Amino acid sequence: MYAMLPLGLRVLNKLTAIVDTEMERIGAQKLLLPALVPIHLWEETNRLNNITELFKIKDRSQKDYILGPTYEETICFMLSEAAKTISINVLPLKLYQISNKWRDEIKPRHGFLKSREFIMKDLYTFDINLISAQDTYASVCEAYTKIFNKIGIKSIKAIGNPGLIGGSVTHEYHYACNIGEDIVCVCSSCQHAINKSMCKETHCPYCKNAFHEEQTIEVGHAFLLDTKYTIPLNVTKQINNISTPLAMGCFGLGLTRIFTAISEILSTDKELRWPKNLAPYTVCVIPPKVIYFV
Ligand SMILES: [Zn+2]
Repeated sequence: MYAMLPLGLRVLNKLTAIVDTEMERIGAQKLLLPALVPIHLWEETNRLNNITELFKIKDRSQKDYILGPTYEETICFMLSEAAKTISINVLPLKLYQISNKWRDEIKPRHGFLKSREFIMKDLYTFDINLISAQDTYASVCEAYTKIFNKIGIKSIKAIGNPGLIGGSVTHEYHYACNIGEDIVCVCSSCQHAINKSMCKETHCPYCKNAFHEEQTIEVGHAFLLDTKYTIPLNVTKQINNISTPLAMGCFGLGLTRIFTAISEILSTDKELRWPKNLAPYTVCVIPPKVIYFV
């Protein structure tokens, strides 16, 4: 576990402000979900046994909980009642939080790059159908581009690996960095990129250029989940008297991971460097030493 000291916290707060601004611009509303997740919610989506890095705890009456690493189940549970009564006009609904998340990593290392407790922005979107959800997905990806531009470090958007979250369409956001654990295949002429674990070709399918490989740190992820979670957790709306599951998207940004990745990328052995928009202070006034006259 790592503590954020005063200067580091100023950096994190500036990063949070950039994210909040862009989330507000796309109409996302900020909330805060409880860290404790009743374990039965994860049983309903069959994820409980697929993810080994869960922190599991019991309360005094032996009820089981996990410390949330991600909150698809929690938000769907919350909306399963609310969605029936809310107006169709509030869709797409975009809800996000910036909070601590937990993962019982097998090999925690590199500080916040792979820590057991970390801070993540997670956004969940709900649309009336998949076509509308695709538009929402594109608007969030645009917001991510703006966030990375404001941070000021070049990022790579790559076709991603759906992993244990799932979904039909998924993109990852990476920073090139020599301590990263991911490899991304990048086309230098059209910037098309794909996670190596998903890449079956040696050449870019669009301009036939050879891919080159970049060692990277994944700092963000977007998933078009459609009804993967809204069917089992019953997030539906009545449309023409038919109970219709909402189409969902989820979008993560690892804030403490971005924090660590940037300090790795910019800093030297002697200097800790931050991009201008994240630096804890932009100006430092150093007064002359007090002169004593004898
Ligand atoms: Zn290309």
